[in-house]
Amino acid sequence: MLRILVSIIVFCGVAFGNDDAPTWTVDQAMTNLQKGNERFVKGKPKVWDSGAAKREHLAAGQTPYACVISCSDSRVPPEQIFDASLGELFVIRVAGNVTPKEVLASADYAVGHLHCPIVLVMGHTMCGAVGAALSESDFPEPLNTLVNEIRPSVEACQSKGYGTDDLYSGVIKENARNGASTLISGSREIEQAVSEGKCVVLSAVYDIETGKVSWQSQLSAVTMQKTELESHPVTEAPKAEEPKSDPSHKSVAKTERKDDKASSEQSQANRKNSGSKYKH
Ligand SMILES: [Zn+2]
Repeated sequence: MLRILVSIIVFCGVAFGNDDAPTWTVDQAMTNLQKGNERFVKGKPKVWDSGAAKREHLAAGQTPYACVISCSDSRVPPEQIFDASLGELFVIRVAGNVTPKEVLASADYAVGHLHCPIVLVMGHTMCGAVGAALSESDFPEPLNTLVNEIRPSVEACQSKGYGTDDLYSGVIKENARNGASTLISGSREIEQAVSEGKCVVLSAVYDIETGKVSWQSQLSAVTMQKTELESHPVTEAPKAEEPKSDPSHKSVAKTERKDDKASSEQSQANRKNSGSKYKH
């Protein structure tokens, strides 16, 4: 599968990728994601141009501002959740938003060649794949292989003392965080981009009922070396260029760092409060 993907990338050449200089900064991309989700939650999406002229423009190349890895669940389409247009998001969807090598290779390409400044692994409430991983049943192949990708997150949460009420929500978050960690540890392109401040790797959980995306900690290559797969890494936000045209950008970055520092406290609170919400 990996060989096939690499072959596609090589032969698609310019039409698939864009090796020009980066177009988006980390903060611009973060602003786009957050404001897009706000519009989605409010039910006020933009009216995007997807006509012939737009398609012709995109035929020359793509410059997506984020790579989003999300579940295949029909209720979790990143383009709608972030109110994004054609060519704006590099989306990788697989049940349980797991990160096997094929997904890793796709994200590697998004960062290394398309210069996506943000890679987001987005879990979601009511995830059936996580529910399957929580059962003690073995499933027929190939389903069992996918479920086994999530089971280490179940074991991690169990070892941390998550109980019946909060295990489901805990595994949803842990699985997304582990996926983000895997992207950095498994891709030299991503690790280098993160260490140079050109890219941040994030995890988040999308709430199917409210439409809101709850952001979790940013991960950095330096933190990975120090803590490996710590459950709630608290990291410094990578330095990024100040936006020249968007005044809202600064508050967004500040909010992110605040969220990072509060990550452990939030997690504790979530463990107490969110259990019943995530039943499926
Ligand atoms: Zn799911």
